[in-house]
Amino acid sequence: MSIKIEKAETLKQKPESKEIPFGQMFTDHMFVMDYEEGKGWYDPRIIPYAPITLDPAAMIFHYGQTVFEGMKAYRTKDGETLMFRPDKNMERLNKSNRRMSIPEIDEERVLEYVKQLVEVDKEWVPEFEGTSLYIRPFIISTEANLAVAPSQSYKLMIILSPVGPYFAGGMKPVRIKVEDEFTRAVKGGTGAAKTAGNYSAAYRAQANAKKEGHADVLWLDGVEKRYIEEVGSMNIFFKIDGKVITPALSGSILEGVTRMSVLELLKDWDIPVEERKISIAELYQYYEEGKLEEAFGAGTAAVISPVGRLDWLGNTMTINGEEVGPLAKRLYDEITGIQLGVREDAKGWSV
Ligand code: PMP
Repeated sequence: MSIKIEKAETLKQKPESKEIPFGQMFTDHMFVMDYEEGKGWYDPRIIPYAPITLDPAAMIFHYGQTVFEGMKAYRTKDGETLMFRPDKNMERLNKSNRRMSIPEIDEERVLEYVKQLVEVDKEWVPEFEGTSLYIRPFIISTEANLAVAPSQSYKLMIILSPVGPYFAGGMKPVRIKVEDEFTRAVKGGTGAAKTAGNYSAAYRAQANAKKEGHADVLWLDGVEKRYIEEVGSMNIFFKIDGKVITPALSGSILEGVTRMSVLELLKDWDIPVEERKISIAELYQYYEEGKLEEAFGAGTAAVISPVGRLDWLGNTMTINGEEVGPLAKRLYDEITGIQLGVREDAKGWSV
């Protein structure tokens, strides 16, 4: 499947160390494909990275009809470039499309486009320890029309951004605030879709939490404010009395690729795991009984991010002495080992 490729005439400076701020540097090329009602997706192309022009009435600016994905490519020590379960991101992109009334994509085809773009810019996959190339596919509604209705035209774009290590000074447990005022998502809403508004709607709560020294918030369900959902851009896991518990997909949680990988590994390792509703009060009770052994987030950015402290109203839960727990460490080592091609990839997760 060959597509049009227009190479950039001048190439940009690539990062020279692993100190790369997240999401601020972009590679030399980008992928673009258009959609028109009646015509479908057309004109896939790789062109030099550059600003785009949109009509001020483009629907994306007004009603936020948009979806995105986030995945990474890693450089192995043999110089190969690997992606981690990218088919799952394509599947999720279509799930988000369905929720947001955006036309579906051909998952296999778009994955091919991702690979071709990464191939064109493969020199940009950084080699320093802990670095990677972040891949951001997204779709925006482009029809110039203020009617409150699905757009008749769209653009699918893929941009690439080299990123530094998530944990600059080694893995470090973070402090998280259990959010008691704001709500991220409700069942039947858009929480299970990767769409812009879910993220901007979280800023207020996150800013308040940061003022109090927290790295992020832990969201509770939007109806009863009792059941645990997820952290900013991560799904959450608890090790309680030898067993692992993670909130079941409630319809308002994003189904993480890292989450599903953690669940599969735990099953392989014969560690008992439960996907179920868990309330913050139940968690606090386990804490008081001394049964809360570990807590950690799971997501593409950090892979595994241990939680050292949870603050819920006036209650503080200090977990594993704010040290990295053995299960978090084991999962981190296993998943990053597969991503970097240094551990056996028995499940064929690497592409
Ligand atoms: N929840 C939310 C809200 C997210 O944005 C992300 C990041 N995509 C995750 C969970 C984790 O998903 P993944 O493991 O696929 O990165």
